[in-house]
Amino acid sequence: MSTYPTPEAKAERRAWGKQYGRCMICRQPFSVHGPLTTKREIHEIARKGQAPKRWAFLANYMAVCLGCHETVLASMPHAQQMVYKRWHDPDNFDPLAICRAMGWADTGVTVADVDAAEREMR
Ligand SMILES: [Zn+2]
Repeated sequence: MSTYPTPEAKAERRAWGKQYGRCMICRQPFSVHGPLTTKREIHEIARKGQAPKRWAFLANYMAVCLGCHETVLASMPHAQQMVYKRWHDPDNFDPLAICRAMGWADTGVTVADVDAAEREMR
């Protein structure tokens, strides 16, 4: 039986997260010794429960504080999550990969949807 994610994918996820010193949403610096809410967490846009065995890839990750993870992110639409992803990790911005992980049609969330969500946030 193979494990998911693989040890390599886990290491990739950890190393990816360490590049980020601030929350992608609230921009608060992460802290190890400060309040628990400032702890760095890695959020999956296609959540583990929504995309079992398909969630471990760079386009799916957001580096966020525990506070945002447990509050605003809980009800944030996927397109809006991808606005933050594009702002802070443009190289790994990939709505199509998220659609495929979710088992949606390729048009489930498009770049145009992310553009529209971004306009609403300004
Ligand atoms: Zn935050």
